[in-house]
Amino acid sequence: MSGQSRAILQMFPALPAEWLRYFYRSYVSSRKDGAAVQMVQPAPEVHQKLWGDKPYNSIDFHMKQRFGGKVMRLSLSSGCSCPNRDGKVSTGGCIFCSEGGSGDFAESAQLDVHEQIEAAKKRVSRKLSSNFAGYIAYFQSFTNTYGPVERLEPLFTTAAMREDILAVSIATRPDCLPDDILQMLVRLNKIKPVMIELGLQTIHESTAAYINRGYALDVFDDAVKRLKRAGLEVIVHVIIGLPGENAAMTEATVSYLSHMDIDGIKLQLLHVLKGTELCRLYEAQAQRDGCLCKKASGKDAPFESEDQYEIPDHSAASEQTRSIQPGSIFIPYYSLEEYAEIIVRLVSILPERIVIHRITGDAPKKLLVSPMWSADKKRVLNTISAAFRKSGHYQGDAFHEQ
Ligand code: SF4
Repeated sequence: MSGQSRAILQMFPALPAEWLRYFYRSYVSSRKDGAAVQMVQPAPEVHQKLWGDKPYNSIDFHMKQRFGGKVMRLSLSSGCSCPNRDGKVSTGGCIFCSEGGSGDFAESAQLDVHEQIEAAKKRVSRKLSSNFAGYIAYFQSFTNTYGPVERLEPLFTTAAMREDILAVSIATRPDCLPDDILQMLVRLNKIKPVMIELGLQTIHESTAAYINRGYALDVFDDAVKRLKRAGLEVIVHVIIGLPGENAAMTEATVSYLSHMDIDGIKLQLLHVLKGTELCRLYEAQAQRDGCLCKKASGKDAPFESEDQYEIPDHSAASEQTRSIQPGSIFIPYYSLEEYAEIIVRLVSILPERIVIHRITGDAPKKLLVSPMWSADKKRVLNTISAAFRKSGHYQGDAFHEQ
């Protein structure tokens, strides 16, 4: 170290050693470049907690810790229908649900479970890395506990018994978990870890009625308690940008979940997919308002409070009466940057113990109507990473115990 640089360091004796080292490196490198040393910039303060390379407890990180390597999901079908489609609860389904029952990448239920697994393995084979540990059998499409135990148990057990399957994940509704199904899941859990994925989407009953979810919040609360008592893992799906909801309402949903005994969460933006009721409403609003993106995202920042927009009361909505009210906000069509800011906020209010399974969504490109920016997943993830870096936030830094 030259006498000149030592003199610079001696000017700041109270600074931490790593800052002094940074000053020195900056000084030396600028001298090497031949640039005059006017002012040495301090290193940006790095206070973000990281899980691996991410400022949140991601599913990727969690699985590597748990299984010793990268884990891939195989999207499968159990062949079940959904009570929200077959008339038991309703015939319309959730308004955003596609023909594939929110499992458009899942293998066909026409194949037996071994055939489905092999086909799904082929589908993901290009993504396998050197530290690959195994697969999760993910029964994704429709409601995978909506069927008799006698048919479902052999199906799930066959998947769980395979050596290449590390865990079984089952997507379902909280109103489709009767006691005999729960007992079957407990037996399955003794073979391989079982994760139950519940599509809550929102805690707001008016939105739930509008999207035709078909069950009340207390049904969900009860299902989570029963699943946890049975020793099963629970993962909850939340949709960002539901009709009539602003960011404050989504935050209320995630805050509610942050105090529940759940294991994981999937945060996903609302996709408008061709052929859905949501698409019909979306196009009707587009015709009424012109360009939706200008109408709803002409602001620089996400909506901050509920009173910025009139929140329509959809509690009485049915398939017949659902319509777009003049002046009501329908879809808060977020820009990518707005969405990234919302994700940072939602992740920061979640406790570290809740694993983040998803911060964006994969919509089939041939069905996607809006938002089109979501088709570029790499850009979405990069924008979210940049928003985390810029804000300095990380999972749990705004979580408050009750
Ligand atoms: S519960 Fe699931 S499968 Fe059934 S309509 Fe809603 S999103 Fe679709």
